[in-house]
Amino acid sequence: MKDLFDKGVISLNIILIGPPGAGKGTQASLIANKYNLPFVSSGDLFREHRKLGTKLGLLAEKYMNQGELVPDHVTIDMVMNWLDQNKGGSSGFLLDGFPRTVQQATSLEKALGNANPVGPAVYINVDKDELLRRLTGRRVCMRCQISFHIHSNPPLIQDQCDKCSKPLAQREDDNFDAVEARLDAYRRNTEPLVAYYDHQNVLIEIDGNETIRQVSKDIVESLDCFN
Ligand code: ADP
Ligand code: ADP
Ligand code: ZN
Repeated sequence: MKDLFDKGVISLNIILIGPPGAGKGTQASLIANKYNLPFVSSGDLFREHRKLGTKLGLLAEKYMNQGELVPDHVTIDMVMNWLDQNKGGSSGFLLDGFPRTVQQATSLEKALGNANPVGPAVYINVDKDELLRRLTGRRVCMRCQISFHIHSNPPLIQDQCDKCSKPLAQREDDNFDAVEARLDAYRRNTEPLVAYYDHQNVLIEIDGNETIRQVSKDIVESLDCFN
């Protein structure tokens, strides 16, 4: 695959699937930088709207705080808008956290058309105990959205973002009740996408329980073999 991608013959339309806390955001920037792809996290887009106090942000906030998915039609509009503005003539894109429902997946397919299929779909699989450890220890920079972990991925200076030095904070939805609701929403709505993309022969499954560095290595190796 790598040769064809480098020559511009094929594009990489990568989507990241995984439960909350699996490490999607952490891996998204690493992969996107390596392949020079525009990338976005649907959760970050919602948080940006929330910060700006837009109508969409206010609507999304209610669902996010309770750990529920934001309704499909608004989520799809928001991400399609991002794609229109960012995919341009590039060699693909990377979406972190979208699609999360079958309806979102079919909308994405329609928008891209048959000549430009979705794939690879990188599924990062992590055990529940580890997810809870990651979510409770996650600290995020509210300005650049980079996430750290108090034990496994600490910032250089405690409670400060490595990039912009702003104080780190815990996400409002990384509390016990919202986490349980998010895991439940993931099982009901998003996990079916694993079989969905497996049927399309575009699924790459990664053991996300490993270290950040090992997971990145495994993803890059799988992407290089993808065809
Ligand atoms: P995590 O990184 O923990 O998986 P995200 O930052 O991706 O969480 O998402 C935070 C919240 O934003 C979700 O709990 C949900 O309310 C909303 N959200 C993000 N992406 C989607 C999506 N594709 N469909 C519906 N809601 C979404
Ligand atoms: P997601 O976007 O899937 O919700 P994040 O990328 O925000 O997940 O990672 C969740 C938390 O786990 C963060 O605190 C992050 O620093 C940490 N983390 C990510 N990947 C790993 C890993 N492979 N091993 C240990 N901790 C990790
Ligand atoms: Zn920062």
